[in-house]
Amino acid sequence: MQAYQVMPDDDMFTFTPIVLNTPIEAIVSRSGARVNCDACGEEIMNERETHQAGLTLCRACAGNLYYHVSVHVHAIQIEVQVING
Ligand SMILES: [Zn+2]
Repeated sequence: MQAYQVMPDDDMFTFTPIVLNTPIEAIVSRSGARVNCDACGEEIMNERETHQAGLTLCRACAGNLYYHVSVHVHAIQIEVQVING
């Protein structure tokens, strides 16, 4: 932890120039902007809602998730070792 306090920035970080694909105003949004999804009722913050067919929807209800739920269920294997003494 002490290294973070004494290392020069150039040794601790690497810097790579980037170009945003989305305007910074759209990424930051307006703090305090809140609406509720018309389908599930979930609160949607910072203008991340979408509008479809006159409805205000969260990304999940709009089918626009940025993640997926894993449906893989792994069987639990239990090994019992009996030691006969
Ligand atoms: Zn929703």
